[in-house]
Amino acid sequence: MSAALQKGCSDAPVLFERGQREVFCGLTGIVWLHRKIQDAFFLVVGSRTCAHLIQSAAGVMIFAEPRFATAILEERDLAGLADANEELDRTVARLLERRPDIKLLFLVGSCPSEVIKLDLARASQRLDAQFKTRGVRVLSYSGSGIETTFTQGEDACLAALVPQMAQSDAPQLLVVGALAEVVEDQFARLFRAMGIDNFAFLPPRRAADIPAVGRGTRFLLAQPFLADTARALEGRGAQHVPALFPLGAEGTSAWLAAGATAMGVAPARLREATALPERRSREALARMREQLAGKSIFFMPDSQLEVPLARFLSRELGMRLVEVGTPYLHRAHLAHELAALPEGTMLSEGQHVERQLDRVRAARADLTVCGLGLANPLEAEGLRTKWSIELVFTPVQGYDQAADLAELFARPLRRAALLEV
Ligand code: SF4
Repeated sequence: MSAALQKGCSDAPVLFERGQREVFCGLTGIVWLHRKIQDAFFLVVGSRTCAHLIQSAAGVMIFAEPRFATAILEERDLAGLADANEELDRTVARLLERRPDIKLLFLVGSCPSEVIKLDLARASQRLDAQFKTRGVRVLSYSGSGIETTFTQGEDACLAALVPQMAQSDAPQLLVVGALAEVVEDQFARLFRAMGIDNFAFLPPRRAADIPAVGRGTRFLLAQPFLADTARALEGRGAQHVPALFPLGAEGTSAWLAAGATAMGVAPARLREATALPERRSREALARMREQLAGKSIFFMPDSQLEVPLARFLSRELGMRLVEVGTPYLHRAHLAHELAALPEGTMLSEGQHVERQLDRVRAARADLTVCGLGLANPLEAEGLRTKWSIELVFTPVQGYDQAADLAELFARPLRRAALLEV
């Protein structure tokens, strides 16, 4: 039976948790977004803490020409704000003078109070008007930890791109969400094999390739954390195509099929294009299933990828779901995913870290998926953990990546088994 026809957890009760949160802020998204849009630059307007976070999240990458930086704003009173704006203008002018390769500049807001006082939306409009004639667009969004968890930074960034999209009502399939290039190339090949040539990706690889949008646009979400971007696209006339997310062989097939149907592709043409890669993917997953079936897993709320991952791990790999926590449960975008979860799965939304840790300790699942900050203490208590951030940084979508995704969960379990010998 197809996942869409099942009830699963569609009406399941959800435990709402409100309390202390342990998550990265939206600035983290810069780490994958700057690799994706190759002529963009992300200028964080923030404090030394923000600069430190970005540097450590990006690892020890040394760039000849980095594509992100932090403009550090020191504590200042309201009277100093005019100076802050002038300073920002000077910093941007210097940066664009030195780096003619930059075509899209994002001013990224953060949470220190002196940044909140600065109106970055106005600043970006002012600078955009100034530099547009030189072929540079200047946009802004917030990556502040008060407003965003780490994957919401991407949502805010893509939502800022939507007003830049030209208007066109021509039919097209739009894939929304940053995907690794290798994954994007595979999807492009599959769309062409189905006879779909009018497709585009948001974000694009280059600023000049920002796709158009309009009433003929049907969009597939590649990531489950893009609520604001989806709303902005709908505001421009585009229609969301509901589907499972492209994780695992089943998810990828369902996602491609939904796109194909929206674009009027005949079922036989779809099957012809996907049968072989799907079979290979299922065969690779069968080998991983031997290692993962019957193992229990607990998801702490962190990336918003938790529900699609839980569906993949339970349905295709036979893992047992102890609890599936997510920072935000978007019922419409996750409707197919919830229907495909085993009935009776414990779902929670939001975070109350102490209570959740109590449940993690009581359950002692074979694997706990959590944020970086919680992993080490739990490992010290003898629990095996998986960093959820790794699942966002790694190419995991599509047929060819399904077994690699399963491997990310199998590895810590194998390591644990070795330690126990
Ligand atoms: S935006 Fe806020 S939460 Fe994020 S690094 Fe800066 S100060 Fe910390």
